[in-house]
Amino acid sequence: MTKTYYLTTPIYYVNGKPHIGHAYTSILCDTFARFHRMLGEPVFYITGTDEHGIKVQKAAQEQKKEPRAFVDEIVPQFKELWRVMGIQYDYFIRTTDDDHKKVVQKILADLEKKGDIYKAKYQGWYCTPCESFWTELQLKDGKCPDCNRAVDRLEEENYFFKLSKYQAWLIQYIEDHPAFIQPEYRKNEVLGFLKEPLEDLCITRPKARLTWGIEYPGSKDHVVYVWFDALVNYVTGAGYLQDDKKFKSLWPADIHLVGKDILRQHAVFWPIMLKTMGVEMPKLVFAHGWWRIGGAKMSKSVGNVVDPIAIVQKYGSDVLRYFLLNEVTLGLDGTYSEDLLAERYSSDLANSLGNLWHRTASMIEKYFEGKVPQGKQESRFYDPKGLWEDVSKAILSYDPREAVARIWAVITRANQRVEETKPWILAKDVSKKGELADVLFNLADSVAHVAVLLQAFMPDTAHKMLNRLKMTHGETIGHVSEFCKPLVTAGTVLEKGEPLFPRFEEKKS
Ligand SMILES: [Zn+2]
Repeated sequence: MTKTYYLTTPIYYVNGKPHIGHAYTSILCDTFARFHRMLGEPVFYITGTDEHGIKVQKAAQEQKKEPRAFVDEIVPQFKELWRVMGIQYDYFIRTTDDDHKKVVQKILADLEKKGDIYKAKYQGWYCTPCESFWTELQLKDGKCPDCNRAVDRLEEENYFFKLSKYQAWLIQYIEDHPAFIQPEYRKNEVLGFLKEPLEDLCITRPKARLTWGIEYPGSKDHVVYVWFDALVNYVTGAGYLQDDKKFKSLWPADIHLVGKDILRQHAVFWPIMLKTMGVEMPKLVFAHGWWRIGGAKMSKSVGNVVDPIAIVQKYGSDVLRYFLLNEVTLGLDGTYSEDLLAERYSSDLANSLGNLWHRTASMIEKYFEGKVPQGKQESRFYDPKGLWEDVSKAILSYDPREAVARIWAVITRANQRVEETKPWILAKDVSKKGELADVLFNLADSVAHVAVLLQAFMPDTAHKMLNRLKMTHGETIGHVSEFCKPLVTAGTVLEKGEPLFPRFEEKKS
């Protein structure tokens, strides 16, 4: 049985509307998923929503709603964003799903039986207005770090998960599997964190202060800590303890893509949870960076949250995809601004890719009545085999920016080719008709090669290009040997169409 390429976004916390950070993670996963589908592999791309916990309970209270009614209103906003952005996920999991809740409870009962969960008294500091429980270390000058008000000493009984018991094992595992946490600097960060003794994790909350959660099995007074509940989604969504055959075909996950702010949960808590459950480790936990808006971290309190739907409505989803995939190397922080996006739109999309299509189609229209001329493959000015291999290698090593750069190198080369060969001069000389045909055939073919590869990165644009090239087979090319053939056929009538990326002045009016 072929192992399915299984990839996950974090499940998004539903205490507010989705923003560009959510869109970024989902676009990255969508790009990887589409590329693997193009290679003909079975793919399972899971995303979803993390719906329990104190922040959701409070956000619901503020709107005078029941938590369930509140989350039921937020979830469609996420689904709508993924629809608008063309995110092709295979499964959407909600932590309020009954099957998920049951498996979480089953896992907890098992771990308690094994002795990896125990009950103990827990002391900390409680901020009543914030309804938040803080450890000594989290306090700021002895006060609540969120609202700066006085806190009260509180003691409560909770369930604890024995992280400490597995600390030495985890360090060894990470050292033995250097590709498990990426980028490498994040792996080193995790190993640095693991130099300090790991405290056991409090995995319940008393119902006295939190009711919106999965009930702890065996206690009517506790609900499960939201992180423990959330992480389990990666296996419940894959059929764990529900559908063995499905789970076997999916697990281990090929990649958990996460933001760097939640790396510790994924690189420390989650591996230890899996270890005690007796489940194989995922192949890779990859942490991406943040988008800074004008140099500041995007946050609701600063009020600089970018709404991806507004951007997509203005520019189209492919433009946002291109910007986010191309602007920074995966792992690093990036700077987002609409000015910057408009700049890339104009230079890379309108003037480069859009212009290549426009001049190629225009010249074929002018000199060959819109039909792709018969040309010689030997006059190729780029190497499709190298292109395919470079782009594949970049995607398989999770470097979409490098993949985009390889594709754009061909676009740039093709535009240069037009300048070098000056088809408008060749066209004046009847004896140069063959040469002109070679140039235009190979330009059209380069556009076809670009369009096939762009399917993973800019699916709408790629499909538009394939349609205009009348390349019905464009979506089925999944191997380098098919890719290296000439992809356009002489005699095909091209459809020039409207500019792929109209100049922005035209767009505004
Ligand atoms: Zn407070």
